[in-house]
Amino acid sequence: MTFTESAERQALRKAVAELGHKYGHTYTVEKARSGGHTTELWEEAGRLGYLGVNVPEEYGGGGGGIGDLAAVCEELGAAGAGLLQMVVSPAICATIITRYGTDEQKRRYLPRFADGSLRMAFAITEPDAGSNSHRITTTAKRTADGWVLTGRKVYISCVDESESVLVVGRTEDAKTGKLKPALFVVPTDAFTYQPIPMDIISPDRQFSLFFDEVALPHDALIGSEDAALMQLFAGLNPERIMAASFAIGMGRFALDKAVDYAKTRTVWKEPIGAHQAVAHPLAQAKIELELAKLMTQKAAALYDAGDDMAAGEAANMAKYAAGEAVVRAVDAAVQTHGGNGLASEYGLGALVAASRLTRIAPVSREMVLNFVAQFSLGLPKSY
Ligand SMILES: Cc1cc2nc3c(=O)[nH]c(=O)nc-3n(C[C@H](O)[C@H](O)[C@H](O)COP(=O)(O)OP(=O)(O)OC[C@H]3O[C@@H](n4cnc5c(N)ncnc54)[C@H](O)[C@@H]3O)c2cc1C
Repeated sequence: MTFTESAERQALRKAVAELGHKYGHTYTVEKARSGGHTTELWEEAGRLGYLGVNVPEEYGGGGGGIGDLAAVCEELGAAGAGLLQMVVSPAICATIITRYGTDEQKRRYLPRFADGSLRMAFAITEPDAGSNSHRITTTAKRTADGWVLTGRKVYISCVDESESVLVVGRTEDAKTGKLKPALFVVPTDAFTYQPIPMDIISPDRQFSLFFDEVALPHDALIGSEDAALMQLFAGLNPERIMAASFAIGMGRFALDKAVDYAKTRTVWKEPIGAHQAVAHPLAQAKIELELAKLMTQKAAALYDAGDDMAAGEAANMAKYAAGEAVVRAVDAAVQTHGGNGLASEYGLGALVAASRLTRIAPVSREMVLNFVAQFSLGLPKSY
């Protein structure tokens, strides 16, 4: 057992941090406010191989694990240049296709995940299902030519930046009852979608998706119908690990800014950081972010070792811890800055709503607490 990362992982973090700082938070916020996207950053990260660190080497990737991808995600966030779609495209979609895709699907998709040129959104949330995925109704009907998909999804991130969406639906024979998901790759030009106005300052936007009898070829179905629940779970643990890393990166960014400010801003004799009322919330944020990071690394290590069950518990806990830690870190950073905390120039107000996201998505803190109560503690299910 070791509590330090390998020299290779540390070098990866350093290189990614350099790229992140080259773009930085000002770039991200300007893109967000002007309705733009952080495409240049995504493309450069892809060219440098950072978005494909977890794709197998035989498909042009780095051959690493989710721990490596999480390190990339965290370091970009810590530089103020987090890429939300990393939580989805390389983490969920590439992982599911690596583990369950047919040989042809792997050859078609993985080399393009490896260099970031393929961006795939992921759609499970539905208006009438929400946290209860067993209620999803997006349904694929088998035809002579393949499938016809009908349904609706909400809050799907980055659809406008993506070539396709990995859609979680059901086949017609598994239309009701406990979820037996079927996963389909659906090109974004095959259906209609519209943006959801959100009060989050982010270049990555959310959409409502409408599938109105969308015709898909046979091989739009990833893997097999029978392994479907396992396939879905294979993607959800990486998603939680990545969401935690995204949050930890954002929290580190806010904390660094606050510490710099607390060291220099002087309104009495000493810099404000000399006051414990200012210093302690920052110290608390540091502790909570480190704890969340440790749990995230544990979850990634378990996942990369193939222990999906233990990884599931740890990934849920990590996501919970990171969501709580980033909210408190951003709040402490805003407070440390006084009025400047909400001035656009300082970039912290922009993080207030964004930091709340990890408490809600990809799985809410309440659903994580339900999971831990039932799975870890053996308490009865309440819903
Ligand atoms: C910015 C953003 C990006 C997103 N991106 C994506 C994406 O790319 N793809 C995708 O598929 N989805 C995405 N989502 C959706 C997200 O995963 C859901 O919002 C989330 O899972 C919660 O579902 P819901 O919004 O339907 O809330 P609901 O399920 O309606 O829940 C509302 C509240 O009730 C609580 N609650 C519900 N059931 C229980 C229970 N049994 N016990 C206790 N509390 C309960 C919840 O915790 C929550 O606080 C995104 C959401 C946001 C905000």
